[in-house]
Amino acid sequence: MTATKRVISFHYTLTDSSGEVIDTSRDSDAPFSYLEGMSQIIPGLEKAMALLSVGDQRKIEVAAADAYGVADEQLVVEVPREKLPNSEELAEGDQFQANGPNGEMLLFRVLEVMGESVKLDGNHPLAGEDLTFDVEVMAIRDATPEEMAHGHAHGAGGHHHH
Ligand code: ZN
Repeated sequence: MTATKRVISFHYTLTDSSGEVIDTSRDSDAPFSYLEGMSQIIPGLEKAMALLSVGDQRKIEVAAADAYGVADEQLVVEVPREKLPNSEELAEGDQFQANGPNGEMLLFRVLEVMGESVKLDGNHPLAGEDLTFDVEVMAIRDATPEEMAHGHAHGAGGHHHH
């Protein structure tokens, strides 16, 4: 029997180190909801959120290492164009899944198309970025037994799969 976890609902606006807004929940109908302790949000944010109460507004700064990690130069690779799917129509910014150096599935982005070769980046687009979250805690409640069994939050702002 595991202890009941909490479901936390919050609004956020995410900005990168240059102050550019990357994402916000403010334009959705419901705040974002997550089940605690399930790594549904980045570790640095979850740690800070755990200390907040309903109604709290905070600016939470998360260093790259506690966000999407530090960019790995080994994941920036140049490959022959013909090895790639859709090789005739590749364009900068295209994304596709492929095996990384350790065999794991990674999402690669096309950085540059250079004649017969293509430069790819398998890092998360926010790798290496220090992030700032402006958060407002909207609700905190105990998870239902069903949510505990599924490992995620249900309802507005959570999973909609029932
Ligand atoms: Zn579910």
